Amino acid sequence: MPMSSSPPDPLPTPSLPSDFGTLPKAELHLHLEGSIAPATVVSLAARYGDVVDEATAAARYATPDFSAFIEAYIWVTSYLRAPEDYALITRRLAEHLLTQNVVYTEVTLSVGVMLLRKQDVEANFRAIREAASAFEPKGLRMQWIFDAVRQFGADKAMEVAQHAVDSRNVGVVAYGLGGDELAVPTADFRPVYEFVAAHGLRRLAHAGEIGGPESVREAIELLGAERIGHGIATFRDPQLMALLSERSIPLEICPTSNLCTGALARQRALPHVSVLDHPLPQLLRSGVPISLSTDDPAMFGTNLHREYELLPQMGLRTEEILRVAAAGFDGAFLPPAEKSAYRTAFRAQAAVLGLL
Ligand SMILES: [Zn+2]
Repeated sequence: MPMSSSPPDPLPTPSLPSDFGTLPKAELHLHLEGSIAPATVVSLAARYGDVVDEATAAARYATPDFSAFIEAYIWVTSYLRAPEDYALITRRLAEHLLTQNVVYTEVTLSVGVMLLRKQDVEANFRAIREAASAFEPKGLRMQWIFDAVRQFGADKAMEVAQHAVDSRNVGVVAYGLGGDELAVPTADFRPVYEFVAAHGLRRLAHAGEIGGPESVREAIELLGAERIGHGIATFRDPQLMALLSERSIPLEICPTSNLCTGALARQRALPHVSVLDHPLPQLLRSGVPISLSTDDPAMFGTNLHREYELLPQMGLRTEEILRVAAAGFDGAFLPPAEKSAYRTAFRAQAAVLGLL
């Protein structure tokens, strides 16, 4: 018998354990303004007399690099003009998160952009909270992070900080810094972070997304950041990996975002990258706490389940994927008893699925 000339069967694509989607999850790095699906953009634009169709909105979201992404972000937020607009996008986000079995989330609000547009931050936030509260009985708890835009400078960041402090008893748990990581020295923001910390807020910063490892180090040492948004540059510095591991400072990793914005290609110094180039496995295996998020799910055409589907493709074992999922609760800005209740529920469901 001649040997068959047909090619061998390809290896099966590694996939998540069945029913993984039914595990309760936490999502910690999620921008409200990046969650506006094209269909919602159509509705928002119509409120202001603009005709935008879904295909146009989707095309605006398909960005080739970081600056194009910022442009798209500015465009879509231009339709957020009144508290009712923020209420609408909050409801849509909450509905979306329930489809992903997200039970707890900390959502970032770009208060720096609200102030730029001279909006009433308190009125917007009241509408957001009221919209979110309707979803608590359905099992979704939402807390909030007020975020400043780095390139607007430290004075504007302090204005955001004051609003965050004013709302610390009504759901704001943390203060963050986003935008163009390469603009404005980190040290400029130190007084702002000291101010929010003195008033009991937790501290976050986007760092090591397009900037280098030194950006992550500065966020920790100069700003006291307790979690890092992205931080993928960390893989380039073994001492920094050891520092994050020793101090248990989590990275909020968003793989699809890193591909869509060009951040991963930049960190790898390669013209083209795939998810296989992502440093998530290396960071996790060196002991850095890693949680998984979508960042701007509508803009990047992703959802949390899809991000988890990438993990087995990166070579993570089930036990490692569970560690990432549990880190979403471990890294939450919640009192220990509430964190542990979420952890218990997570482990109970994982046991039911036979994953422990
Ligand atoms: Zn982000």
